[in-house]
Amino acid sequence: MSKNTDIIGRFAPSPSGPLHFGSLVAATASYLDVRHRKGRWLLRMEDLDPAREPPGAADQILRALEAHGLHWDGPVLYQSSRLDAYAEALAELRRQGRLFACRCSRQQIQADGGVYDGRCRTLGLPDKGNAIRLRVDDVQVDFIDAIQGPQSQHLKQACGDVILRRKDGLYAYQLAVVVDDAWQGVTDILRGSDLLDSTARQIFLQQRLGLPTPRYAHVPVAVNELGQKLSKQHFAQALALEHCSGALLQALRFLGQAPEPALTRASVDEILAWAVQHWDIQAVPKLANIRLDSHS
Ligand code: GLU
Repeated sequence: MSKNTDIIGRFAPSPSGPLHFGSLVAATASYLDVRHRKGRWLLRMEDLDPAREPPGAADQILRALEAHGLHWDGPVLYQSSRLDAYAEALAELRRQGRLFACRCSRQQIQADGGVYDGRCRTLGLPDKGNAIRLRVDDVQVDFIDAIQGPQSQHLKQACGDVILRRKDGLYAYQLAVVVDDAWQGVTDILRGSDLLDSTARQIFLQQRLGLPTPRYAHVPVAVNELGQKLSKQHFAQALALEHCSGALLQALRFLGQAPEPALTRASVDEILAWAVQHWDIQAVPKLANIRLDSHS
């Protein structure tokens, strides 16, 4: 199959546990969205926080994706190999006078309503032992989400200055994701709606770094009976690799696609071939959260 190299999507899991149904939904949606348009689908392992990565989790995710037929193009990019690029981006922002050191704890900010008010901006604190934040402007960021429609966020009111390097010296997700999406040439980001709220921050950061803004689309996040996002923290079960076809069909239905009954006995490759051909982004539910009662 000839590839359309103008369209590049990606799946970017954090290896904090095995692939579960929620991450399968996000991976499948991103895969279908670019393969339907004959684009390239990349895999990036967001392994920047060793303390939260059980040994073997990254490989386990890769094996689970393969078992579900979700084959990526090219080598996997490990963020742990990209520290120099993040340091360079920070240096650029520092030249722009955008960065400052902050000593506030997460608990302090939570107690103040969860929005950082910029109180350390002018204190001139040392970088060492403190978090590094990006000063945001008093602006509203607007974008169109290809599934959820027009979005806007006032950065200062909604989140405040963004942490780019944590107090423990680790680079933050918001910085690494922006640097790597641009470096990998990603044009189409399709991911879980739990990250919808991060998108305006990422666009603001792209603009500061002179990087292009990809097309964004957010699929509803699968939640459990308690309304919690399925994630490792909430003990979402690892997918059983002997039920891959069933899980894929379930993921397709969750995404509003209507797999033919004949696919019930099909292999993952047959299911994906059908789904690539019939992918309809308009059919993906718009609700921010959809309840997932059970899956097998
Ligand atoms: N690594 C992030 C996660 O697992 C996703 C990053 C992204 O898709 O932008 O939640």
